[in-house]
Amino acid sequence: MSPIAQAEKALCAATGRRFAVLTGNGTAGLALALRALGTASWPVVLPDAVCINVPLALHLAGAVPRWGEIDARHLGLDADAAGPLLPGAGAVVAVHGHGNTTDLSGLQRQADAAGCALVEDACLAFGGQAGDRPVGAWGVVSVLSFGAGKPLSLDHGGALLTDDATLARDIRALDAALPACTAAAQQRIDALGRHHTRLYNAHFDGQGGPALAAQVPAFRALAQAEATACLHRFDPAQAPGLLAALPTLPAQVAARRDRLATLHTLLQPLLGDGLQWLAPTPGSVPWRANLLVGPADDQADRHALMRALHAAGLHASSWHPAASDFLADVPAGHPVARRIGRQILNLWVDADCTPAYRAAVQRTVADHRHALA
Ligand SMILES: *Cc1c(COP(=O)(O)O)cnc(C)c1O
Repeated sequence: MSPIAQAEKALCAATGRRFAVLTGNGTAGLALALRALGTASWPVVLPDAVCINVPLALHLAGAVPRWGEIDARHLGLDADAAGPLLPGAGAVVAVHGHGNTTDLSGLQRQADAAGCALVEDACLAFGGQAGDRPVGAWGVVSVLSFGAGKPLSLDHGGALLTDDATLARDIRALDAALPACTAAAQQRIDALGRHHTRLYNAHFDGQGGPALAAQVPAFRALAQAEATACLHRFDPAQAPGLLAALPTLPAQVAARRDRLATLHTLLQPLLGDGLQWLAPTPGSVPWRANLLVGPADDQADRHALMRALHAAGLHASSWHPAASDFLADVPAGHPVARRIGRQILNLWVDADCTPAYRAAVQRTVADHRHALA
């Protein structure tokens, strides 16, 4: 058996799925899944608070985004609010936002009632458990990523998982028609990611010139043009590395949970009305630690804490602004997505979350809170 076939078999064993197809990355995987489901020119429902790769995958598949409200507890689609959006949609993408396991049984019920295909975006939650099934075993097809910052990171690749033999065959045929992975394509993807972060960090509080909203049209055009670089196959040279890394996933998930718990203990005495801890849902794989800072109607406090952490040389982000605030010109009709986007602040829980990082974060947050008091 080739290393690729062995890795695909191991992914099936890890999730209980019948078929796995390695893809060039998670974005290509999601785009191929949507193409195979025939969603081109159809609406596809997705949460109004996701990383840009999800809407870019819809763009690559020719699907039309139909944004749904999120649930403040797990930051994924609110199943009740999604219900009315599903009739007539080609698919619904259930994203485990921030690695928080989302309400898959609720969404599956709504998808079944509407006759709409459910796609599980498991990119951030591989290794987790959603209800009575492992993450990666929900919906007609699940998407994994092994990119930078994901629970299992090789800085390359992704996979699609399904129990449907016809869908697996169609996906494999679509994937086989893609070009091989090249260093140039990877550089274009990395450059877009760096540009996105730089743009956001310069403009999120309007201090670096025009406000974020003014950046939207140019950024969206660039992102859609550059997203084509995602459409390539898995690099077979990475298959042995993936096979070797898979058994380390449970330990990596446990380490993320431990770092999150340690950070929580450190910050606990500082929590209160203006600084809340967003606990992950059961079975989650924490991507970052999530705090809600300040009142919803005034972002000055959140922005000031972000700037203070950055000034101290510490990683901190505020993902994700509602899509309606950064990527799309959709009406801002989703108050929860908007409120969370305006208040959220993320701290690191990957290997960069060292004792020194945690202590410096604790000091910076404490100074910030005392300055407010
Ligand atoms: C990272 C990510 C993707 C895309 O995966 P890549 O391998 O980076 O293309 C899609 N969805 C979610 C939720 C992600 O976090």
